[in-house]
Parts: sequence; C-alpha cells; structure tokens
Amino acid sequence: MADDDEKPPKPEDFQKMMQEMFSKMPSGSFVVPGMGVSPEKGLPEEELPAKADSIFEFDYLPRDIKAHLDRFVIRQDEAKKALSIAVCDHYNHAKYRRTMEKEDGKLPEVLELQKQNVMVVGPTGVGKTYLVKHIAELIGVPFVKADATKFSETGYVGGDVDDLVRELVQRADGDVELAEYGIVYIDEIDKLASKGGMIGRDVSGRGVQTTLLKLMEETEVPLSNPMDIRGQMQAMMSMGRGGGGEPKKDTINTRHILFIVSGAFSGLEKMVQRRLSAGQIGFGADQSEVAMNEELFQQLETQDLIDYGFEAEFVGRLPVRVVCEKLKAVDLENILKFSEGSLLRQYEREFEAYGIRARFEESAIRRVSEMAEKENTGARALMTVCERLLRDFKFELPGTSVTELTIDADLIDNREERLKVYRELGKLVDVEKARAEMDTFCRGFRTQHGVDLVFTDEALAKLAGEAAEQGRSLLQLCGQRFRDVQFGLKLIQKNTGRTSFEFGVESVEDPDKYLSDMVVRSYGGPAGGAEAAPDGTPGP
Ligand code: ADP
Repeated sequence: MADDDEKPPKPEDFQKMMQEMFSKMPSGSFVVPGMGVSPEKGLPEEELPAKADSIFEFDYLPRDIKAHLDRFVIRQDEAKKALSIAVCDHYNHAKYRRTMEKEDGKLPEVLELQKQNVMVVGPTGVGKTYLVKHIAELIGVPFVKADATKFSETGYVGGDVDDLVRELVQRADGDVELAEYGIVYIDEIDKLASKGGMIGRDVSGRGVQTTLLKLMEETEVPLSNPMDIRGQMQAMMSMGRGGGGEPKKDTINTRHILFIVSGAFSGLEKMVQRRLSAGQIGFGADQSEVAMNEELFQQLETQDLIDYGFEAEFVGRLPVRVVCEKLKAVDLENILKFSEGSLLRQYEREFEAYGIRARFEESAIRRVSEMAEKENTGARALMTVCERLLRDFKFELPGTSVTELTIDADLIDNREERLKVYRELGKLVDVEKARAEMDTFCRGFRTQHGVDLVFTDEALAKLAGEAAEQGRSLLQLCGQRFRDVQFGLKLIQKNTGRTSFEFGVESVEDPDKYLSDMVVRSYGGPAGGAEAAPDGTPGP
C-alpha cells in the first residue's frame, strides 16, 4: 500500500521515469499498433522497406490512370480525366522534389507547388468515392474518407479534422512518410457552406473551412491527438524506445497530402443558371429544372461557389473542379454488365455458396436498372432493388435440391409464380430420376429428328410437377407435349443452322405457340432472330 505521505510525482518526473523504463525494454517487446512498430510484420519501422519509395517511382500517365478507372467506373469521363491529371501532377511533383533533394541536398527556393486539390460535384451513388478509392489503390497510397458534417456537429473544430490526417498514418501501417503522400477525401463538403440566417451552422461551417484550409495548404499535425492521454503515452513510449538513432518524427506534414472534397451542392445548378439567364435578355424568367451536367458545369465560376456560402480562400485551394453526372438506367445497366466490381458477380458468388448457379439474363439486367433509376440513389439503388427482388429466392432456395437459378425479366415480374415452380423443384423427391427421364426423352428426340433439346432446371421442375399432378410419367408427358415441335425446330434449323435448342420455364407450357413466333423471326434474315433461342432469349 502506498504511504499516505507519499506525494504523486510531478508530470515532468513521471515522463522521465516512463522514458527511462521504456528505453530499458528490448525493442519490439511492447507492440503498439500504428506507433513505431508495424502491427503487421512486428518489425521496428527502421527495419521495414520504406513504402513511400513507390511514390518516388511514380511513372503513370494520365491515360494509364483513366484506363484503370474505366475498368471499374462507368461514365464520369470528365471527372476521370481531371482526376487522372491532378493525381499525376501531384505525384510527379513529389517525385521531382525528391530527386532535387537527393541531388542537391536541399530544395531550390523556386520550387513552388500549387497543389491541385479537387472538388467533385455530383449526387449520391454516382462513383465519386469509388473513383478516389481506385486511384489510391492503384498508386499505393493510403486513403481516408470522412463526412464534413461530422466536423460541424462536434463541439470543437480542429481536433477531428486533424484525426483524419492521423488516420492516414494508421492506414499506412504506421509509415508516416507514406501517410504524408496519402489522399484525404471529404464528402458532403457542401454542408459547410454558410447560408444567411443559420447562425449556429454558420459559425461551425466557417470554422471547419478555416481549419481545412490550413490542412490543405501546409501544416504539421501532431502524430497523437493532444486530447488523447493514451495516445500521448504511446507516443512517449515509442520515443523512449527510439534509443540513440535519429529523433523520430512526431508530426505529419500535410504539404503533399492530396485533398479531394465532394458534395451534391443542391441548388448550385439553379444559381449558375440564374446568373447565365440574367445576362441574356429573354431568358430571365426561365427557372426550369436543370440537373447539374457537364455543360452547365463548364459555366461554373468561383464566385458561384462563394455565393453558395464558401470562403473565397477555401474555394481558392480547390482549383480542380469536376462534375459527376447523374446515372441513367442505361448507365446502371452498363455498371451491372461491364464494371469489374459488378454486383452480379457478388450475387452469383453468394448463390454459389449454397451450390446454386445463378445466372442473370439480359432482360433481368435491364429491368433491375430501370427500377433502380427511379430510386434516385445512383448505383447504390442496384443493390437495394436486387436485394428486394431476390430476397425470397435467397431465403427459400438454399438447402433444397435447386441447383440453377435463371434470373430473367419474367422472374422479376412474376416472382410468386416462379417461386412456386422452384418450390416444386425443391420438393421433387428425386430430381435425379426426373433428369434421367428427361435425358431419355431428349436422346430419343435427337435420334429421331437430329435436334438437341436442352431443358433448364426450372423447365424440368415445371414439367415434372405437372406430370406428378396428372399421375403420368414425365416421359409420357413430354412425348405428348413436344410431339410436334420438330416441325418448327427444323424450319428454324434450316434458316439459321442451329442444332441445339434450350427450353426455359416460360416455353414449356405451350411449346408450339412459343415456337411459331421463333419460326417467323427466323425468316427475318440474320438480324431478325437468326440467333434467337426458342426460350425467347433475344439474340445478340
Ligand atoms: P458516391 O458518389 O456517393 O461517393 P460511391 O462512389 O460510394 O458513391 O458509389 C457507391 C457504389 O456504387 C460503389 O461502391 C460502386 O459499387 C457503385 N458505383 C457508383 N457509381 C458507379 C459508376 N459510375 N460505375 C460503377 N460503379 C459505380
């Protein structure tokens, strides 16, 4: 027990004591994530290869970066171009500066840097974050994202903003030098605009603008938050362990951190439009709704942003301005079809985990995109819509004998119907037996008519269900139902050269009627359905 007379040590003595204690500890025996020791490799920082070196070997061209972005992000071409250029200039400058430093040992006075911080204007879910994330990944720099609203809501301004920079160090596994070349992305920046009458928000919004301004320019941010006692202790420990070498940096310089800010800036388009109309006689009254698009954005002036509620100095630090346009149904369709990060692959993987091979048909992709466009949340809506449409299938099919799920427009429009068919298939006691019977039928058909028939699992389930209901064998039912299809198939074969025909669930109810349409189309020449499958899938 402590003696009652014993006084607590003074803070300076305590610090000295702690430093002495930690300097005696073997290096690496006290691992503090993100502080002095790499949590990943458990090696002291000094022994790790400097990751920041990759920055000084930067040799991308703007078109390389855009080509990379094209793989993931659909549309937003101007934003891609502007960001690619800004990023190349930014990191080429860092590289140049480093070379000069290495050659001359010091920097020439004239080496000024006008940083190309970027402002991205655009609604939610159109790829703003996605672009920045992929740029950071490609270049290999840490990237943090935050909402500007977070800053204005907290009681004090400054601390939080600095935390963003500190987070870069964490993302860089404690590598301060690499963090100094990171990218900070701040969304909802438009919420910092001060509009007349809102005093509370005004004060805080302006305050945050000023703090950000310093950060965007150049400042030293302490590695540990001065308000955070634990962080201070950790910093002290890592200093104590340093043992003789160069004194460790305890601040992060923000000179080379690239800042990208974004927001929807609702109402900005009207302001620009109003200004443009005011200058033209006869257009003054036209206040019709116009979304912020590339054309209107070209007309955006710095003064518009100041009028919107930004400090002139703040806007001045954001010289590169780009717009990300609203995504239309056709863009959403292209995202599903062509983006490497497509949601469809995710869904396919998710179903696959249950042993179900899910396949999205073109018709479904179109339908989902049209529905998503109406949600007004950009590409995010694709997930919302898919989740809503496929929830029951994802719930009911796993654990049944269903192994295939063909998602087409019909399934989306008649979910209950199709679920019923799948339930039947799930109930089929002996799917193998039904499949074997169907194979027998198809083999016989080929021998007799020289044409291959292929039935999807769903089609099989439907036919097997009907056969069971009628108390007949599947073979009997098929023999009757497909008795006359060879005439149609042969005609299509003659016109198009096809020898294999797939039957989906919609085509097995009345195959003759179904085929007659196909026959007519097959006469339409190569464009008129030569490639069309009898299950209604349109040709390419
Ligand atoms: P925001 O514009 O609000 O920052 P995000 O970039 O976070 O939106 O987009 C959300 C998600 O939607 C992304 O993770 C991505 O999967 C998808 N997405 C959004 N826009 C596009 C686009 N233009 N091309 C491809 N995918 C996109």
